[in-house]
Amino acid sequence: MMNFTQLVLASHNAGKLKELQAMLGESVHLRSIGEFSSVEPEETGLSFVENAILKARNASRISGLPALADDSGLAVDFLGGAPGIYSARYADGKGDAANNAKLLDVMKDVPQAERGAQFVCVLALVRHADDPLPILCEGLWHGRILTQASGEQGFGYDPLFWVPERECSSAELKPSDKNQISHRARAMDLLRQRLGLK
Ligand code: IMP
Repeated sequence: MMNFTQLVLASHNAGKLKELQAMLGESVHLRSIGEFSSVEPEETGLSFVENAILKARNASRISGLPALADDSGLAVDFLGGAPGIYSARYADGKGDAANNAKLLDVMKDVPQAERGAQFVCVLALVRHADDPLPILCEGLWHGRILTQASGEQGFGYDPLFWVPERECSSAELKPSDKNQISHRARAMDLLRQRLGLK
């Protein structure tokens, strides 16, 4: 079991820091990489795992602290896992609405049975920048791509993601409900177990 009183989170996103801190609990203090540097590393990996490790190593190198990074996105079965690690910039950086419009268009003739997809979250924790044994926790959330947007909550692809166990879109879930069952919640659950926090 590993003991950390503080971890630096490899993200400049204050919302993400708050969400992950709430999931992690109070015994570990998450600090933002923004306290140490404003430069973000280039995400050159081909997988969520590679990019999460790359970001965690970079944050640890810059801060001198153990570091946690997450990489997440949407992997659509019919598209061979796309948009995957490119989820945020699927429509060339034009934002969530453009990403969703592009996905709806690409999927417009795809039958129900072939519309399976998963949200993916990989968390990588390194004890130091050159750690040969990062802790890796993967959370998958299985669903289907809708044929039209539905719901106002959440962000990103939430309006297009049908959640079978709740019979609604991810954007129709209350944020507190989504945070109990999402890919991020699942990955964080595993991390808490690995750290002996539950
Ligand atoms: P990031 O890892 O937070 O940068 O997320 C990458 C991209 O994946 C986001 O910009 C969204 O497009 C998508 N994504 C990740 N998690 C979610 C989610 O919970 N709901 C909707 N979209 C998500």
